[in-house]
Amino acid sequence: MSLNRLFGLISILLMALFLTLIGKIVDSEWAVYQRSKESLPAIKNFSLALQVEEKLSAERGPNNILLGQRLDDSADARIKLQQARAATNQSLSSLLQAMRAQSDPSFDPIIANIKATKLNLALARKQVDLLAAKKKSERDADAVSVSVEMMVATVEIFSSTIGSLSSRVIRADPQFHDGVESAQLSSRLRDIAGQLGSTFTAPVIARRPLTPQEIYAFASLTGKADQLFSVIDLELRSYHINPAFKVALDNIRTHYFGDGVDFLNGLFAAGRTSGNYGLSSGDVASRYVPMMASIPQLRELIVAELIEEAESRNRRAGYLLLTTVCLGFIAVGVFVMLIRLIRQRVLRPILDATDLFVSFANERFTVAIPEHRYGDEIGDMLRAVRVLKAHSLDKIRLEREREELIIRLRASSDTDFLTGLLNRRAFFAQGEQQLGIARRYQRKMVAILMDVDHFKAVNDVHGHQAGDLVLCNVAELCRHERRKVDLVSRYGGEEFLLLLPEIDLSQGIAVAEKLRAAIDAHLFQLDDGVVLKITASFGVVDLEDDDNLESLIARADQQLYAAKNAGRNRVMPACQVDEFIVA
Ligand code: GH3
Ligand code: MG
Ligand code: MG
Repeated sequence: MSLNRLFGLISILLMALFLTLIGKIVDSEWAVYQRSKESLPAIKNFSLALQVEEKLSAERGPNNILLGQRLDDSADARIKLQQARAATNQSLSSLLQAMRAQSDPSFDPIIANIKATKLNLALARKQVDLLAAKKKSERDADAVSVSVEMMVATVEIFSSTIGSLSSRVIRADPQFHDGVESAQLSSRLRDIAGQLGSTFTAPVIARRPLTPQEIYAFASLTGKADQLFSVIDLELRSYHINPAFKVALDNIRTHYFGDGVDFLNGLFAAGRTSGNYGLSSGDVASRYVPMMASIPQLRELIVAELIEEAESRNRRAGYLLLTTVCLGFIAVGVFVMLIRLIRQRVLRPILDATDLFVSFANERFTVAIPEHRYGDEIGDMLRAVRVLKAHSLDKIRLEREREELIIRLRASSDTDFLTGLLNRRAFFAQGEQQLGIARRYQRKMVAILMDVDHFKAVNDVHGHQAGDLVLCNVAELCRHERRKVDLVSRYGGEEFLLLLPEIDLSQGIAVAEKLRAAIDAHLFQLDDGVVLKITASFGVVDLEDDDNLESLIARADQQLYAAKNAGRNRVMPACQVDEFIVA
C-alpha cells in the first residue's frame, strides 16, 4: 500500500474515532442539558402540589373554628372558612391547569387523583356545612370527628399526587432527592401539626375529656411530628448547606416544637383530666395556627432553593454544552489542520522526493526539484537532493566527455596526424582482420604499395610545408579512389599502402593505374601559388596461399622497388604484365 493511501486511511480512521468521541461527549452534555431543562417544570409542578397540600391542611383550622362557634356568632368564622376554601380551590385549579397545559398523557393518573381529591373535599365540606348549620348544642361530637377525619382523608388521597410529582423531580435529576424529600416531609409535618390541633376540635367543642382513641392519636401524631422533624433536619444537611435553612429549622424548633407543642401539651393535660380546656375551639385554632406558620415557611424556602438550583444547573449545563460544542469544533478544526500540515510539510515532500529519486535513478534530470518554504529537515533533504542532482549531472557530463575523449583518442591513435589516413599500427591491426576473413572464406585480396617519386626534391625546392601539402593531396586522391572496404594507410614518409579485399590482381592493377593516372594528372597548388606536378610508383601483389601480412607487403615493396628501377611513375604488378607497366 502506498504511503499516500496509508496516510489517507489512517487520517479517515482517526477522524472517525475523533468525531465519535466528540459526538459522545456532546451527546452526554446534551442529555445533561435536557435533564436540567426537565427539572424546572417538574419542581414547579411539585411546588404547586405542596401548596395544595398546605391549603387542604390549612382549611381544617377555619373548619374547627366554625364548628366551635354558636350559630348566631359564626359570621366571621364563615367568612374565614370561605376564604380558606377559596384559597384551596385556587391552588387546586392552578395545579390542574398546569397539568393540563403540559399535555403529557403520563399526567392523566395525577389529574384523576386531583379530581378524586376535589370530590372527597366537596363531601368533607358538605359534612362541615351540615354540622355548621345546626345549633352548637345539637352538633354531635362524633359527627364533628368524622368531618375532621374526612378533611384529613382528603389530604391523604392527595398524597399520591405529591408522591408522583416528587418522583418526577428526582427522576429528572437524582441530585434533588434530599431537597424534594425534605420539602415533602415539611409539608407532611404541616399536615401532622394540623391534625394534632384538630384532635382537640371535637373534645373542645363538647367540653369533654379526650377519649382513649384521641389520646392515642395525639401521642402517635406527636411522635410522628418529632420523627419527621429529625428526618427533615438530616435530609436538609445532606441536600444543601444553606444558613437560611438553619434559621428556618430554629424557627420551627422555637415556635412550633417550643410554643406550639407546649400549647398542645396544656390542652392534652386538660383533656386527660377534667376536659375543661378554658378555650373555645375557635380560640384553640386562632392561637395554634400561627404557631405552625414556621413549617410552611421552611417548605417554601426549600422549594425556592430547588428552583434556584435547577435554574443554575440549567444555566451551567447550557454553558457546558456550548463550551463542549465549541471545543469540539475547535478540536476537529485543529485535527484537520494537523492532518493537512503533516500532508503538506512531511508526506507531500517525501513523495515528491521519492519521485525525484526515481527520476534521477532513471537518469531523468529534467524533473524540477520543488521549492520548500520552511527551514525544516524536509528543506535540508531537498537541498541535499539538489546537490545530489548537480553531482549526478556532473558525473554524467564527465562520463560523456570521457567517452568522447576515448573515441577521439582511439581515432587519433589509429590515424596519421598529417593525412588523416590509417597509420601503420592501425593498418596492421585492421589488415590482420581482413586477411583472416580472406583466408577463412578463401577470398582474393590485393596489396598496393605506392611511393611518391623524387619527393625529397619537393621538400628541398619548396620546403617541408609544401611537401606536407603534397602528401595531404596525394592522401586525398587515395581516399577518393578507395571503396568502403579498402584499407588506405600512410605506410611511411611518402609511402602509402592500400589493402583491397575481394578483388583479384588485375582489378588491383586497374585501381593502382587509376590512382597513378590521377596523381600524374593532378596539379598540386602550393601556398605560394606555384603549381607542381608529381608522379608516384606502385607495387601491386595479390594474396598467395602462404602469405601473411608482412610477406604480402614485402612482395609489394619488391614490386615498388622494381617500378622505381623501371623508371618510376608506373605500376609494377607481381606477375610481369607488360601492358600494365606505364612509363
Ligand atoms: P625516390 O623517387 O627514389 O622515391 O626519391 P625520393 O626523393 O622520393 O626518396 P627519398 O627516400 O630520397 O626521400 C624521401 C623524402 O621524403 C625524405 C624526407 O625528407 C621526405 N619526407 C618523409 N616524410 C616526410 C613528411 O612527413 N613531410 C615532408 N615534407 N617530407 C617528408
Ligand atoms: Mg620512399
Ligand atoms: Mg620517393
